[in-house]
Amino acid sequence: MPQNRRDFLCLCSAASLQLQPPPRIDPLTRTGSGRARNRLSAATALALEEAEQNPYWLDALERIDATPPRRRSAAVHRSTLVRGDTSRPWVALTFDDGPHPNSTRQILDVLHDFQAPATFFVVGEMAHRYPELIREQSRGGHSIGNHTYHHVSLSKIPRRYIATEIKACGEVVASVVGRAPRLFRPPGGDYDTEVAELAVGLGYRMVLWTSDPGDYRSPGPAVILKRIEAGLSPGAVILVHDGIQQTLDVLPELILMIRRRGLQLVTIDQMLEAPPAPSVRAPEPLPSGVRPPLGRESLRLQARPPR
Ligand SMILES: [Zn+2]
Repeated sequence: MPQNRRDFLCLCSAASLQLQPPPRIDPLTRTGSGRARNRLSAATALALEEAEQNPYWLDALERIDATPPRRRSAAVHRSTLVRGDTSRPWVALTFDDGPHPNSTRQILDVLHDFQAPATFFVVGEMAHRYPELIREQSRGGHSIGNHTYHHVSLSKIPRRYIATEIKACGEVVASVVGRAPRLFRPPGGDYDTEVAELAVGLGYRMVLWTSDPGDYRSPGPAVILKRIEAGLSPGAVILVHDGIQQTLDVLPELILMIRRRGLQLVTIDQMLEAPPAPSVRAPEPLPSGVRPPLGRESLRLQARPPR
């Protein structure tokens, strides 16, 4: 048992005294969004029995205490992606909160049918329960990002638990797909400087979004599409959720809508890895009287026999 276990239990007990005993949240049966879950206090989330028993989480906590991640404040800003390169006609579709037994496979089927790559920000405990689903995501060529182990509000928990949540999720993904994720998205977009610095210290790029249609509230398929369409532009990062039926229902039309606008779907990794698009600039006008150098085109023209 880690030495810090007592502190952990004290933290949870103290918080529980101040709050009503929370309902136990089972990620398998929840129908709402990650955001709804985020409204629980962090201590409540950490007090879940699973949190104390889960080997990934406990192991990560022990190691975080032994070697806290370095802070690299200067690197934080440039390590956060909100929008991709606007000079490329690229859009990233990102699914948070999975994998989910009722929807992930269906999402993957649609993406496969349309040959559309996506990025999945997975919750560690769900990945631990459904490793085959994140294996399928990886085999399908999609990117997998870290969305913490228990999907808690990171700005509301102590530093060592922030790092533990990120580290434990990363280790589940690495153990299943054989490669550690390098993308991180804070649940509910809830982060502060400390969260960002810890994520960067653990080797992640933090990824936010440009377009949030609020699909987690199930506003209706037409509303989801309309909201996304309003924000469609080169470099857009669209946030939707795994486990939401309406999102699944609109997915084929969403992909078609993106393509009708002349935009191409890419993963966040592709967005980050691509070199800056070459700028297409008109050549500078030459001063009067100066002849252009003999480039390939000039030579070809010169070689053409006179008519
Ligand atoms: Zn989430």
